[in-house]
Amino acid sequence: MREFITETMFNRPLPPEEMAARLNGDLGEEVKAYNAMTMYEAVERNFEEAHVRTLFKLWFHILALEDDPGTGAFFPRVFSRMDRFSIVKGGSIRFAEALEECFRSYGGEILQDAHVSEVTHKNGKATGVRLEDGRTLEAKQVVISTVDPPQTLRMVGEDAFGPEISEKVRNFKPSPHAICTIHLALNEAPRYTAAEFDPDLNRAFNMFIGVADEAQLEENFNATIHGSFPPFPMGNGACNSLHEPSYAPPGKHAAFWWPFVPYDLTDGGPDAWDARREEYTNRLLEVWRTYAPNLDEKNVLGTYLFTPRDTERSCINMIHGSHHVGAYTLDQVGYNRPTPELSHYRTPVEGFYMAGSGNHVGGSINGAAGYNAANTIAEDLGIKKWWTPVSEPVLG
Ligand SMILES: Cc1cc2nc3c(=O)[nH]c(=O)nc-3n(C[C@H](O)[C@H](O)[C@H](O)COP(=O)(O)OP(=O)(O)OC[C@H]3O[C@@H](n4cnc5c(N)ncnc54)[C@H](O)[C@@H]3O)c2cc1C
Repeated sequence: MREFITETMFNRPLPPEEMAARLNGDLGEEVKAYNAMTMYEAVERNFEEAHVRTLFKLWFHILALEDDPGTGAFFPRVFSRMDRFSIVKGGSIRFAEALEECFRSYGGEILQDAHVSEVTHKNGKATGVRLEDGRTLEAKQVVISTVDPPQTLRMVGEDAFGPEISEKVRNFKPSPHAICTIHLALNEAPRYTAAEFDPDLNRAFNMFIGVADEAQLEENFNATIHGSFPPFPMGNGACNSLHEPSYAPPGKHAAFWWPFVPYDLTDGGPDAWDARREEYTNRLLEVWRTYAPNLDEKNVLGTYLFTPRDTERSCINMIHGSHHVGAYTLDQVGYNRPTPELSHYRTPVEGFYMAGSGNHVGGSINGAAGYNAANTIAEDLGIKKWWTPVSEPVLG
């Protein structure tokens, strides 16, 4: 189904009935069946063994999915892309730099440290943006927002979107679960006890650790959703320097782990993360060490805990540290993301588009929302596409 999944990601989302009409044959029926399931039901339909079920339930949560009716639709998507995990040579910043270089090579100009506070429009047509420092920039053709939908609404004003859409956008929800990142600078890569069973574990590209069964998974989410630190910190992580040496100085290693944690700590709220950084670093390191005993004082050269509060501070569109810029619940995925009226990247204001993770296909580094918006804008402006668009999704 990979080709079909790619087509659904790199095209505008279709209304459910239109999508259903394109799902034919056995595979089409299978997709329809997944569309009706929760993600846990989708995992349970495919796996019997408790550890394997736990692994995949955790994996789906890591993609910021909730166990809601309809999220079973992500099962084929996740499985069709499972072998596509990758890292950027030289570090993730190189990817952003490559895009910047490409943009500039076409005459693009980038302003940094420039906070957009308003999208200006006149007679229902976008005219530009106003920056926080008072400067205004005129738009010759279009304005595109790639920030979170509630902020986009504040920028353009509720009058522009009308009361019905505005209310829905105001209620766009962040993910109820956040992640933190514990970074380690190491003399040597983690060596896992489980490698005695399978030596490949010590060179795995991605590790899922911290939770042994579905009961622990549930206990953790019950804790984090109520603002408590999880009793069994769980999540995925990696030692990227094993696969790309530029991630660490010669002979050394860099590893990280992304456990689920609450954003809003019961005891002190989100800002309490700053005061607890050291305490939580030590707790997480202790848990990690139970799996990889060589993460001891001699080996660990340095640590840094990047908290959900840090995520929100550095990317203000990731409200509550919501790293996919909004929860994936049935009312916030596909044709409903961020609302059915806005999910085709156009807005009620002519020449104003939305192209961030608050739109289909959501977050992660896939470029899909921007690509789909670019196709839409080219069509609206009558620009001849110099790329071959991905075919429209059809099965059977
Ligand atoms: C800790 C962490 C780990 C992650 N790991 C992965 C991973 O391994 N793989 C993966 O695929 N994804 C990962 N993600 C998710 C991924 O980073 C996001 O889903 C993705 O960056 C969202 O892209 P975006 O363009 O919508 O938003 P962003 O990348 O957040 O870009 C939006 C930009 O707009 C800026 N901005 C916001 N408001 C304004 C304003 N008013 N004026 C001007 N600028 C503004 C923000 O500061 C930000 O720079 C991770 C996220 C986090 C937090």
